Amino acid sequence: MDARREETVDRGALSAPEREEAFRRLSTHMPGRTPDAKGPKDQPDPFRSVVSCLLSAQSRDVNTAAAVRALFALATTPDEMLKLSDDEIARAIKPCGLYNMKAKSIRRLCAALIDEHGRVVPQTREGLMSLPGIGRKCADIVMSFTFDEDVIAVDTHVFRVCNRLGLTDERTADKTAAALERDVPDWARRDGHFWLLQFGKSICLSRRPRCETCFLNDLCRWFAATRDAPPVTSEYQDT
Ligand code: SF4
Repeated sequence: MDARREETVDRGALSAPEREEAFRRLSTHMPGRTPDAKGPKDQPDPFRSVVSCLLSAQSRDVNTAAAVRALFALATTPDEMLKLSDDEIARAIKPCGLYNMKAKSIRRLCAALIDEHGRVVPQTREGLMSLPGIGRKCADIVMSFTFDEDVIAVDTHVFRVCNRLGLTDERTADKTAAALERDVPDWARRDGHFWLLQFGKSICLSRRPRCETCFLNDLCRWFAATRDAPPVTSEYQDT
């Protein structure tokens, strides 16, 4: 089954009791939030976190980290960042790709922080999403990692797992995030992102999910629908 079909086959979502059971097992088998889970890419500073998130679009973690390091070696505040030219920013962030577009977004982000937020990164989802270049995924990652809120951020891994397992049956990451916020049991909100992320990286891998030994395979909608199908391929990379 290719990725396009993986995302469009209607397999239905788990019932509330099944969802509860899935999270109960995830909480038993997967590590949750840890004391050092601070800030996207280990950056606890909110400004650095939000810039890091912006740079992470369509970039591997290692390349994003290199771009953030190079950029923050030149400037560490919105005011300092705006003193750099587009070319200087673009050169620094080149490792993460789309650097010309991202350089312009960084400048718009810095200007908005200065003009509309008193140089302080907003601590609400709405405030974060009002910043140029910051969508729901970035906002939720900053909320969870940097501001320590009980938010399940939906990145590539979380989206894939939710979609396959049937935790939600939404077709976009943003709708998946909204469905999780509505349907996930309260007790699972704090660590949910971390359980799903680790599960996606260790068991429900993008290319070769370990379905036969997966502790959720009796609940999984994707496994039930595809157990006799040929091996999976996907656009997502296992990392
Ligand atoms: S059974 Fe397979 S597809 Fe379903 S959650 Fe487990 S690893 Fe993922």
